[in-house]
Amino acid sequence: MIDIYRVLPEEMDDLVIKLGQPRYRADQLLRALYQGSPKNISDLHQIPSSMKDALAKAGYTIGSETEIHRVVSEDGHTTKLLLKFDDKTLIETVLMQYGPAQDKTHPRSTVCVSTQVGCPMGCVFCATGQMGFEKNLKAEEIVAQVLHFARLLRERDEHVTNLVFMGMGEPLANYDETVRAIRILTHPRAFGLGQRSITISTVGVIPGIDKLADEDIQVKLAISLHAPNNELRKKLVPTAGPNSVEDLVMAAKRYFKKTGRRVTFEYALIDGINDSNKVALELAHLLKGNGAHVNLIPMNPTAGGFSRPARKRVLAFQQILRDGGVNCTVRVEKGSEISAACGQLRTDIMQNIAQ
Ligand code: SF4
Repeated sequence: MIDIYRVLPEEMDDLVIKLGQPRYRADQLLRALYQGSPKNISDLHQIPSSMKDALAKAGYTIGSETEIHRVVSEDGHTTKLLLKFDDKTLIETVLMQYGPAQDKTHPRSTVCVSTQVGCPMGCVFCATGQMGFEKNLKAEEIVAQVLHFARLLRERDEHVTNLVFMGMGEPLANYDETVRAIRILTHPRAFGLGQRSITISTVGVIPGIDKLADEDIQVKLAISLHAPNNELRKKLVPTAGPNSVEDLVMAAKRYFKKTGRRVTFEYALIDGINDSNKVALELAHLLKGNGAHVNLIPMNPTAGGFSRPARKRVLAFQQILRDGGVNCTVRVEKGSEISAACGQLRTDIMQNIAQ
């Protein structure tokens, strides 16, 4: 069985010809898939029955996801879903909407997708990291998360404008399926999202960063640094290599040199762990002069017992970086009251199921 949502438009051209159909049927099929909401091959009303039969005979299906839980933040701007795939895999996906909602529509609607079930990187402050690793998601399962929200938004005359690979899992540890999903989601004959509207966030798979720089896709890259020295980083990201801090700074420079796109360093600020003035000075010293942008993320509380620094501390940390010549912003946290930190909702639901 092959899910038709993993097929790239170029492959669709070959497929229809192989099935004895004219090439224009590929465009009809793509329109039906990306502008409609088919749940089965038989729902593709725009294409003739002979072709639907041929697709089904060749083993093509539409693997549907089921929404099993939905939580919306009080302000209505953040929606978190728990989706179940046919093999009973459970994953989280989040919609974050920004900007003033005029006529109830938002100028920016960002979907945060998962690329793995669980995560092998084991970051100690992350609910997903504490689950362990279950499996890599397939490209079609990544695409399904975006389409699910796209269909919800369509009902409100809104659409997905941005995509961040910051949900469950490390996208560059599932490189091929992540890149295939991006090609499908950005292809003008498929979902058609702008490549520069996509950000991939990695905790530091260096071969993946170098490989991505060589791809013909213009996505933005964010590297989750979390510490300015290897000793502290290793405590937070136990799978990090011995020189991961220097290696990542070098990888970011190579990525910029090759692509012309600056890398953002993400930094989860954790109370009493990596938020002191001393650490801020060390970080400023590390990143000064290479045009780096740092995005501080005051962390969401997780089961690990870590907590978010006070607002005053966050601003002091930011000021030290700025005084040290490093461009720095603080991310607006969205949806913490609905367990929007990665992996939390799935953990909460699984615990409820187990009780
Ligand atoms: S923070 Fe990201 S990379 Fe680290 S364990 Fe969580 S999902 Fe994996």
